[in-house]
Amino acid sequence: MNVVFMGPPGAGKGTQAKFVCEKLGIPQLSTGDILRASNAAGKLPAALVQAMDTGGLVPDDVVIGLIGDRINESDCVGGALFDGFPRTVPQAEALGAMLAARGLKIDIAIAIEVPSDLLIERTVLRRTDKRTGQIYHLKYNPPPPGADVVHRADDTEESVRTRLDAYARVTSAVIPFYEEAGVLKRVDGVGAVGEVTKRVLAALGV
Ligand code: ADP
Ligand code: ADP
Repeated sequence: MNVVFMGPPGAGKGTQAKFVCEKLGIPQLSTGDILRASNAAGKLPAALVQAMDTGGLVPDDVVIGLIGDRINESDCVGGALFDGFPRTVPQAEALGAMLAARGLKIDIAIAIEVPSDLLIERTVLRRTDKRTGQIYHLKYNPPPPGADVVHRADDTEESVRTRLDAYARVTSAVIPFYEEAGVLKRVDGVGAVGEVTKRVLAALGV
């Protein structure tokens, strides 16, 4: 199954993706994670680092190239979960074309819905384990004592507001794109993590 996870920054895409990927046995393809890994390895051009840190989008051709390479890897033969990609209509069209070339398509696009006032708190207090990638929250899911966590450079209130604006202006147009394709499911992302997981799995029919 090929699944897209959409939703504004802090909606819970990464958190829910871990459960769904385990359940379906498919890899999580997060363009944000791939870009951050490339940056950590010193391989991301300065202009892209700047775009990410300030909450802007990186150019379509960059993320389309990253995903195009990634879906060629052998673990994607049984499907994949696309987390945070596509974020623009051209990205959605490119993904559709790349899958169609392999006789595949997006089976379900899940839009995780959370009101903006909750998203600032979710992102600014987000922490990620450096080694395992486990996602924590200082208030809702605090890291265990001694965990080596990082605060993302773009998880400042100012950058999150810019990202929410980019989501409203550009990314939200991907929702009608998948609605017209007949594959969109909306999931309420407010509530305990486990409750949201149940809703996501129900939407996926698994
Ligand atoms: P979040 O989990 O907060 O939604 P991500 O980790 O998905 O954020 O993305 C972090 C940053 O990486 C984005 O703000 C953007 O700069 C860049 N990025 C990630 N995916 C894309 C994409 N599909 N298109 C453009 N930029 C992207
Ligand atoms: P996204 O990938 O959509 O940007 P994350 O999965 O990284 O979002 O979650 C953002 C923050 O909100 C993290 O700190 C995470 O621990 C927390 N979080 C995720 N889901 C919930 C939830 N249902 N209730 C409260 N906090 C949550």
